[in-house]
Amino acid sequence: MDVQAMTTKGLLQNGLTLLSGGRWIEGEGGKSVVLDKFRLEPIAEARGATPQQVAAMIDAAHAAFKAGAPSPYERGAILDRAARIIEEKAEEVARVVQAESGFTANDAHGEVSRCIQTMKLSAEEARRLRGEVVPLSGAPGQDGRVAFTMRVPLGVVLAITPFNSPLNTVAHKLAPAFAAGNAVIAKPSSATPMTTVKLAEILIEAGMPAGFLSVLLGGGAIAQAAIEDERVRFIAFTGSTGVGRKIQQAAGLRRTQMELGSIAFTVVCDDADFNLALPKIVGASYRKAGQVCTSVQMALIHASRFDEAAEKLAERVRAVPYGDPANPDTYTGPLINEDEAKRVADWIDEAIAMGAARLVGGPREGAVVPPTLLTNVTPEMKVCSEEIFGPVLCLQPFETEEEAIERVNSTPFGLATGVFTNSLDRAFGFARKLEVGGVHINETSSSRVDLMPYGGSKDSGFGREGPYYAVHEMTEDRIITFTA
Ligand code: NAD
Repeated sequence: MDVQAMTTKGLLQNGLTLLSGGRWIEGEGGKSVVLDKFRLEPIAEARGATPQQVAAMIDAAHAAFKAGAPSPYERGAILDRAARIIEEKAEEVARVVQAESGFTANDAHGEVSRCIQTMKLSAEEARRLRGEVVPLSGAPGQDGRVAFTMRVPLGVVLAITPFNSPLNTVAHKLAPAFAAGNAVIAKPSSATPMTTVKLAEILIEAGMPAGFLSVLLGGGAIAQAAIEDERVRFIAFTGSTGVGRKIQQAAGLRRTQMELGSIAFTVVCDDADFNLALPKIVGASYRKAGQVCTSVQMALIHASRFDEAAEKLAERVRAVPYGDPANPDTYTGPLINEDEAKRVADWIDEAIAMGAARLVGGPREGAVVPPTLLTNVTPEMKVCSEEIFGPVLCLQPFETEEEAIERVNSTPFGLATGVFTNSLDRAFGFARKLEVGGVHINETSSSRVDLMPYGGSKDSGFGREGPYYAVHEMTEDRIITFTA
């Protein structure tokens, strides 16, 4: 497969991987090799930026912002056009995602169709951006004064993104940032840079003006070089909790959005419909090889139905096809690299050595870890106490709702929880007491619709994605008052 030609009009082939001031230029920094995640063979090479190139990129973005953003109408039109182009090129875009992420075609197409939604929703928000009238004359001595707020963009937005949603997570930052009138710099994961290059190419084709979109490639050090520049006014980050902490420290007084790690739970009550719950849990545990921040890592099952659930889940997990993501039947492909697969396999081995039972699973093959189902797990095991980010589902029984809620709330994280129950009382009890950003009744923790507010609490971060919410975060109120 000639990935480089397929991806980006030969941009990568010619080493033009940075977008700076509206021009594609060659990176002069460190080289990173993009691998086929299953075959572990190189498919592309991208050179990152140097600190000088970062500075020049921010110069251009800052100057573009200062010169003025296109009108909200034009911003909406550009984002709508981008949505149309992605629709037309869906197959091409999905192939880029698939080539560098190791996802199945289904997962790659899922990213593409959601990205189209994200673009369209952001276009709507560009046109809807508004402030509000402030009733000043309600205060003593202010009669006759008129006031309103304008929602104004912040300036240069830096979007730092992970590997596991290389298209839609990037879109969830670039599109609202531009809809709000900011100039945005995308810094994707070095494991999956080509999709961002492709998306940027489409946005340029859609009419994105020079300087309002930049692409910065490189690792953590290059991202830090950009953060150090105070002209970056907002940092939108999705990634691990550890890296999030470092970014937050460096951000100082500047605003950020932190979409961080998690241990995602789904609770199955004794009145749950197993025909609904179990297939959804299996789907959400092993999709993208479990590399989704809301993948079900822990399923808490009511003790009265635990054995039945374990048996039925084991049957389903055994039937999950895994291996080569190019095979159309595959559901669970490789992890992002062999080291990650080794780590996940080590955690499974550790759990078994500490007394866990492996109901389904098997030896790692390269970067592929077979879908794994564990029981008899305890909180001391890494599979329970840390984010596994792999195709591993742990089952634990619970007796009372309070116990289930306490289990979820006892982790440092709080992104999303699924609850399967047919009782409204219970549903509201969970909704009120779970300390997470989202509670999904009769869905798994992994349920997401792009227009919803999406984000975590506690160590899972703060701030909300979803174009309406993100535009709000990437703008601020300016009050204008008139005295007649
Ligand atoms: P990561 O934290 O290793 O990397 C994310 C991005 O940060 C990459 O672009 C990386 O180059 C950059 N980076 C690394 N070190 C940096 C530093 N010191 N300063 C600035 N930037 C730096 O994450 P990953 O392994 O790519 O992704 C997996 C993680 O992302 C998981 O923890 C997962 O839960 C999390 N995630 C969270 C959400 C959410 O919405 N909460 C969504 C997807 C993924």
